[in-house]
Amino acid sequence: MSEQRLRIAIQKSGRLSDGSFDLLKSCGLSVSRGRDKLYGRVQEMPIDILLLRDDDIPEFVADDACDIGIIGQNVFEEEILNESHEAPAEEVMKLGFAHCRLMLAAPKEWCFDGSLMLEGKRIATSYPALTRAWLARQGVNAKVVMMKGSVEVAPRLKIADAVCDIVSTGATLDANGLKPVATVFESEAVLIRNRQEFSPEKQAMFEALLKRIKGVMTSKDAKYVMMNAPRSAVPAITEFLPGADSPTILELAGNPEKVAIHAVCRESVFWDTLEELKKLGASAILVLPIEKMMA
Ligand code: ATP
Ligand code: ZN
Repeated sequence: MSEQRLRIAIQKSGRLSDGSFDLLKSCGLSVSRGRDKLYGRVQEMPIDILLLRDDDIPEFVADDACDIGIIGQNVFEEEILNESHEAPAEEVMKLGFAHCRLMLAAPKEWCFDGSLMLEGKRIATSYPALTRAWLARQGVNAKVVMMKGSVEVAPRLKIADAVCDIVSTGATLDANGLKPVATVFESEAVLIRNRQEFSPEKQAMFEALLKRIKGVMTSKDAKYVMMNAPRSAVPAITEFLPGADSPTILELAGNPEKVAIHAVCRESVFWDTLEELKKLGASAILVLPIEKMMA
């Protein structure tokens, strides 16, 4: 791989990969996803993609085998807390997908009445550092048992009393006689970069990509909203529109009392929002998706 190409590490297959590929695609980068391939090349920009197991991504980025990477905050923070690298990668921005929670789960029969109940207990987890940090914040002394996988079977096997694991629906916990009792860490995918200074070409590429990612993220919930309204209702409507900068006000032909209001709403526009706008005097309300946006 050429020195001048920006090298991005993403998960080869798993819960982060679809979101990572989708994000790159929304940024105008198409990557061919070969079955057993370790590398992918982007056609549109001098960018190379490395397809890895998620656990290897923080290390690859820290070691300068890659310039940037997409990783779950849970894995990244665990790595940071472990201080396994002198100059670890740094988080650049949250990416708004792969949301999940690291949760403490206890046997269903426990009447859990607070973290002090864990005093002296054994907790099985694949995230020992995050779990220890949380226990320390709670002022609880408990033994943390590291398990690589199938953490939820630990209490049944009497390896541990409780577990600390990633939970989405809770179905796996339920099937193992466990219930979530406390949130230890809230996670989503993040963009990380190594601490080396990039060459000017690479830095320019990185900044261009960041700009596109930010554009994709702000346009995700953003909508272009149009409506007609009495001129007198403009201040109230403007104030109500979710996350809108100053809207455009256009005169309606042949009706000096009424105007058209056009606005970019950066926050979600729900049915409730439209009903509220109607109450404020708006009519002919249109909500359009925004495909791309750049500040
Ligand atoms: P790999 O084979 O790359 O090591 P893995 O099995 O360790 O993959 P995945 O299960 O693909 O990892 O999860 C990757 C990341 O996706 C998690 O670390 C977490 O940040 C995120 N994630 C999002 N939702 C969930 C979920 N429901 N369960 C587990 N992880 C989730
Ligand atoms: Zn993994």
